[in-house]
Amino acid sequence: MPNDDASRAPPSSKADASVAGAAALSQVGGSESAPTGPRAGAERGRAKTLPRVDAAAPELVPARMVNEVLYCPRLMYLEWSQGEFVDNAFTVEGRAVHARADRPGTPRTTEGPDDGPSVPHQTRSVWLSSARLGLTAKIDVVDHDADGSVSPIEYKRGKRPKVVEGAYLPERAQLCAQVLLLREHGYRCEQAFIYYAGEKRRLEIGIDDALIATTLAAVDRARELVTLGELPPPLVDSPKCRGCSLVGVCLPDEVTLLRALAGGSPEPEMEQLTKAAPDLVGPLDPDPWSLAGTDVLPKRVRPLLPARQERQALYVQEQGARIGLDGYCLMVRGKESQNRVGLAHISHVAVWGNVQISTQALRTLMERGIPACFLTYGGWFVGHAVGAGSSNIELRMAQHAMATKKATCTRLARGFVCSKILNCRTLLRRNASGVDRELLALRHLARKASQSASVETLLGIEGTAARIYFGAFTRMLKSRTGSLQFDLEGRNRRPPKDPVNALLSFAYSLLTKEFVLATRAAGLEPLLGFYHRPRFGRPALALDLMEEFRPLIADSVVINVLNNQVVAPGDFLSSMTGVALRPAARRRVIEAHERRMAEVITHPVFRYRISYRRVLEVQARLLCRLLLGEIDVYPPFRTR
Ligand code: SF4
Repeated sequence: MPNDDASRAPPSSKADASVAGAAALSQVGGSESAPTGPRAGAERGRAKTLPRVDAAAPELVPARMVNEVLYCPRLMYLEWSQGEFVDNAFTVEGRAVHARADRPGTPRTTEGPDDGPSVPHQTRSVWLSSARLGLTAKIDVVDHDADGSVSPIEYKRGKRPKVVEGAYLPERAQLCAQVLLLREHGYRCEQAFIYYAGEKRRLEIGIDDALIATTLAAVDRARELVTLGELPPPLVDSPKCRGCSLVGVCLPDEVTLLRALAGGSPEPEMEQLTKAAPDLVGPLDPDPWSLAGTDVLPKRVRPLLPARQERQALYVQEQGARIGLDGYCLMVRGKESQNRVGLAHISHVAVWGNVQISTQALRTLMERGIPACFLTYGGWFVGHAVGAGSSNIELRMAQHAMATKKATCTRLARGFVCSKILNCRTLLRRNASGVDRELLALRHLARKASQSASVETLLGIEGTAARIYFGAFTRMLKSRTGSLQFDLEGRNRRPPKDPVNALLSFAYSLLTKEFVLATRAAGLEPLLGFYHRPRFGRPALALDLMEEFRPLIADSVVINVLNNQVVAPGDFLSSMTGVALRPAARRRVIEAHERRMAEVITHPVFRYRISYRRVLEVQARLLCRLLLGEIDVYPPFRTR
């Protein structure tokens, strides 16, 4: 059964699953997700019915979803109703275990010392459904005993957990669902087993009336949640979230914090916080509580994801180079060299101009969810190739619905523009002297932006702020780079007319690529924005989200490469039409960009350490949570 172990916390973190589940039916759905006391009313009040294609109830509940709903109702909903799936080490290992179980003819003798008695016959990958039970399951292995009875065997990664029942409740209920299906199809089935690949042993699972009742209640609960279209709230401070493959999609602690700050359900800590800093509870506006950079937030958001992504981008800009597939690697062949890069180490591929990718390589990239980005030789982002992508149709529908709402667009645009101006101001304050007038003007414009009533007004404010900021941009450059010309009138592009503008255009192009990938990975439509209007081929949403990051990432990289003489006047090609970077200098700028993306900072709101690349992912996911009605405010990213 593919991915069955997937989305699972490591065994040690599942202890509470067993405890919660032991109380059977009334707790189906998890006590953590159905809070009582002061939180309960607010939580219920927040439940949103998501946009739906059709309210038709799913007829058959997969046995795996029985497992999921008992583990975490939100996980079940995200996986089943919204089609979210993200691999982590546990899902990959679980898939490998199931692949072996599914393989016809795998001899039982390879499965370990305690593999059970030999049986006359064994069937693999048995798919059964029952309309009466409302269940469907693909059973890894079914043993047929000499007396005519059968026993399902469910394969799991890892070792047996140390719990009295021998296995956690969600896993026992999944196996129970399989037993019920076998019985429904006329088989005599009294025994069921879980095979733990980590110790090559199988464990018999007792199927009693209490487990059957819990399993059937879980089937009803799963169907009910999906039919209602309600995304259950995240578990609170649950160890289950550690190791959950969807933690980066769910953002349990981040969502809980933002919801509490919105004033809906203050918990004790939040009540204290509210008393200490009344400004933190405010109207729904961009950064209504001035969260960014404040010192008053409690340290309650756990860093559940690694601070930095281990995989790296593969850039190929040698004209005429060819990218092919070589086993589990990509082989990049240039005129004079060739490089082999393991697919497991690649986050995405970006190619400039005339670089060829073989069909096999492209298909493998798509299958593995590794995007391939295409840029012109001059660095203009043309597009990207991805696999089938996210199947979260609810999210797409919500994005389309929100994009038609003027008030929502204005509110989001206020946050983007206000934060961009403030981040520009921060960069200027940190890197230039004698710019007091500009700093004052930018602060004034940021305030105006935060109060702006329309997107049209914001465009004007943004334009004025850009003139002031770029008018002072050269003051952030050290004097030894004075030989590089910069148009003091501000930005010019398409094509850029001077070296610094050429660098800025190139850096913005790289950043656009990053945001297209981040929004696409989150299941959003990059072409449909809220501030930037839709236009043929324009990644409007990516441009929206990158506004506040332009100074923090792209401008910062440009200042860095100029001030540290990573590029020199000789690195630019001037023509009648404009100025462009030479390939060697481009490579050095890409390296500087990648260094910046990998740089680990303290998140201004959540207070954990995180790389800029991860910040982009989190921001895109937070926008999803906003669009799906879970949080009321998109928290822009600002530094001080
Ligand atoms: S991260 Fe936690 S709350 Fe979110 S789906 Fe996973 S287990 Fe559930």
